[in-house]
Amino acid sequence: MSSYVWAFAEGGKDLKDLLGGKGANLAEMTNLGLPVPPGFTITTEACRVYLSTGTQPPELAGQIDEHLAELERVMGRRLGDPADPLLVSVRSGAKFSMPGMMETVLDIGLNDDSVRGLARVSGDERFAWDSYRRLVQMFGTTVLGIADEDFDDALDAAKRARGTTDDLGLGAADLRALVDTYKAVVARRSGAEFPQDPRRQLEMAVRAVFDSWNAPRAITYRRQEHIPTDLGTAVNVQVMVYGNRGADSGSGVAFTRDPATGEPGVYGDYLANAQGEDVVAGIRNTLPLAELERLDPTSYRALLQNMATLERHYRDLCDIEFTIEHGRLWMLQTRVGKRTAAAAFVIACQLLDDGLIDADEALRRVTGAQLAQLMFPRFDADAAPKTLATGMNASPGAATGAAVFDSATAVARAAAGERVILVRRETNPDDLAGIIAAQGVLTSRGGRTSHAAVVARGLGRTCVCGAEDLEVDLAGRRMLAPGGVTVVEGELLSIDGTTGEVFLGEVPVVASPVVRYFDGELHPEGPDSDELVRAVHRLLAHADSRRRLGVRANADTGQDAARARRFGAEGVGLCRTEHMFLGARREQVERLVLADSDAERESALAVLLPEQRDDFVMILRAMAGRPVTIRLLDPPLHEFLPDLTDLTVRVALAEQRAEPAERATLERDRALLSAVRRLHEQNPMLGLRGVRLGLAIPGLFGMQVRAIARATAELRAEGVDARPEIMVPLVGAVQELDSIVEEISAVLAEEAARTGVALDAPIGTMIELPRAALTAGRIAQHARFFSFGTNDLTQTTWGFSRDDVEGAFFSRYLDLGIFPTSPFETIDAEGVGRLIRIAVGEGRTVRPDLHIGICGEHGGDPASIHFFHDQDLDYVSCSPFRVPVARLEAGRAAIG
Ligand code: ADP
Ligand code: MG
Ligand code: MG
Repeated sequence: MSSYVWAFAEGGKDLKDLLGGKGANLAEMTNLGLPVPPGFTITTEACRVYLSTGTQPPELAGQIDEHLAELERVMGRRLGDPADPLLVSVRSGAKFSMPGMMETVLDIGLNDDSVRGLARVSGDERFAWDSYRRLVQMFGTTVLGIADEDFDDALDAAKRARGTTDDLGLGAADLRALVDTYKAVVARRSGAEFPQDPRRQLEMAVRAVFDSWNAPRAITYRRQEHIPTDLGTAVNVQVMVYGNRGADSGSGVAFTRDPATGEPGVYGDYLANAQGEDVVAGIRNTLPLAELERLDPTSYRALLQNMATLERHYRDLCDIEFTIEHGRLWMLQTRVGKRTAAAAFVIACQLLDDGLIDADEALRRVTGAQLAQLMFPRFDADAAPKTLATGMNASPGAATGAAVFDSATAVARAAAGERVILVRRETNPDDLAGIIAAQGVLTSRGGRTSHAAVVARGLGRTCVCGAEDLEVDLAGRRMLAPGGVTVVEGELLSIDGTTGEVFLGEVPVVASPVVRYFDGELHPEGPDSDELVRAVHRLLAHADSRRRLGVRANADTGQDAARARRFGAEGVGLCRTEHMFLGARREQVERLVLADSDAERESALAVLLPEQRDDFVMILRAMAGRPVTIRLLDPPLHEFLPDLTDLTVRVALAEQRAEPAERATLERDRALLSAVRRLHEQNPMLGLRGVRLGLAIPGLFGMQVRAIARATAELRAEGVDARPEIMVPLVGAVQELDSIVEEISAVLAEEAARTGVALDAPIGTMIELPRAALTAGRIAQHARFFSFGTNDLTQTTWGFSRDDVEGAFFSRYLDLGIFPTSPFETIDAEGVGRLIRIAVGEGRTVRPDLHIGICGEHGGDPASIHFFHDQDLDYVSCSPFRVPVARLEAGRAAIG
């Protein structure tokens, strides 16, 4: 027979699925011998049956009766007995804690008769009526759905009548009168009298807890926290203990360590003469827990002992609820407590030192997401002014700079050494340069998956998005904020990507010591170091010793490569070359496109060659001794040419003016315009780019390879161990790779002949098209390595362009649960991941020593890193700033 009800003594902490977190831990504490008021748990299974069928399982009522009878026997009292009533609480408790989302009712079993019995046996009239008024209010709001204000107003009126502001100022008679008022509220608002039958109170309360699973706020919370919608909640029925029995009673919460910093000690709050719900409700000021030592040393010592027992047993920070009744301590709840990122690292190492956990377990206790949080600078909270507005905390960090309203201005001011905040209604791909140049991005529209948010996160830029109270006036180069505040271009703004707050002016920041440590400015054992830095250092060292995945960085400049190296990168997994064709070099690209003879084309390439070589010298030098995977030119050519519309207008105007002096320019612009028209693509992402471009423009890739060869030869002559790898983008067919490898090899041979030194650079390809993945076996015949370009592979597998779809319908897709997180954030293991599996399997069958990595943004995403570990990749490559996160998660993936 399936049992829907479990006595506390029958359960245990590993039964959270069935008993919920609260029930499982109440069972655990019971079995540890801690003083837990007895009770039983109605399983999540019963709730699921109720939620799916609309009725409780038929056996449930009988099973509750049996357990209730047992409880009554043990306690020697009956539920709601008019002479000496047993009272119980009915407490919700799902598998995952959902603070404040679900419902609890205390003091079930009181009615017009049993309240007198309670008063008699306790000898405390006030306590009995206080409990009854609590029941009527909690029952009224939770079970009957009456607004809290209806009760609060009545309570306030009673306090006013008595001339007190404190609930303790109300006497027994006041509380009895209040119960009458409350019952009238119930009758008026719900259309029925407050139920007097205790068993019926219990039954209704259980059902209300079941129903609270689908309360709107619970649904919203689950969506936010990615908690499955079909788990249901358990219900705990527990004998009441009373913290409201006078000065020698009370309720409190406690943590075994400081959840903010991790420091061991006594943290918590205590409220005398109160029931548990009063502590968090803030009706009276609580005392720091340490004060309990003075008030009730015996209970205090017992509590400390229980806290130690729990921490040893759970081997983790515990969060505890307790009540003291007439000097006797009762434990009402425990769970492994939530904590800040900093506390997570510190506590893991403390427990390791205490011998409670081993190093692997300590590593399991921290996450890459937490480490990422520790790497962002923070505003100094004590120095922050009033906020101007609040938006979504899209990318953490604290950024201050001059407000600018377009990317060109952002780039120009940043180039002049100024810090800027890019303020836009929303950003688009054209803003990339501005985002890169800015300290942070502020938008008035768009959510967490908007372009600004996604790009800023990827780049490690601070971002607050969707601050709807702000009105961005691009034409007027200003922003209007509530209260008539106008921010003009150049005025200082501060944005906090961790909280979503926007401030006018500069807010002082505190640099993250963790980043100073990674940058080598802070030695973990040095005088400026602290426990957090030591903990990060220690756990990362352990991750490094355990991980199988290598970690490289995506870096395009010597500076980025150097930083990545300090952060622990073991090479560059993706060096993009496109930015090397911008700026002054654009002119040569235009010449290249316009060239009508081999000689003209070669002359343009000849100008680019030494400049490319210098780019490579810088990055190869910064990564000396480690591999640098250089990707040959990838984006479509027209990205380096003037905009079609601009050029059309320019030509039209010049034609109208027809000044003879402008003839030559006009001719050139006409030629350029026709080239731009010829190269114009409806869908450039799927057009002439990557290897296709290399094949279409003879000599282009050859020039890049020559630059790599010369940079390497130059460095090696200096004694620098340069190790380039040549990567061909956007290959879909082995024949494409084959042709380009032929060209590359010829260039390498020429260079070898010229310098007398052979360059053994491995040539490999990106796998970023489904066709490449599906024909990986053939491609591997011509590639020494694969690198998954998971951004493009995601786009081409799903058939959507990221820039277009993220802002357009992703939030809807997330709401509908079509994907739990954006597939650009976390690898879509089912679809894109399947292609990766195929490519790895077939590639390695053909070439067992095929070296395989991934260089998309997913390389820095914790969940994706675990997937790549499982697929046996050799390394992940991510932005320099994510390198420590990837190291940590690769280690965590290895220990399982
Ligand atoms: P939440 O999940 O919102 O914390 P709880 O079920 O823990 O809700 O209950 C709310 C408050 O009531 C807590 O402070 C808890 O300690 C207290 N409480 C619950 N059951 C009892 C009981 N049987 N006796 C005394 N206090 C209780
Ligand atoms: Mg609780
Ligand atoms: Mg790509």
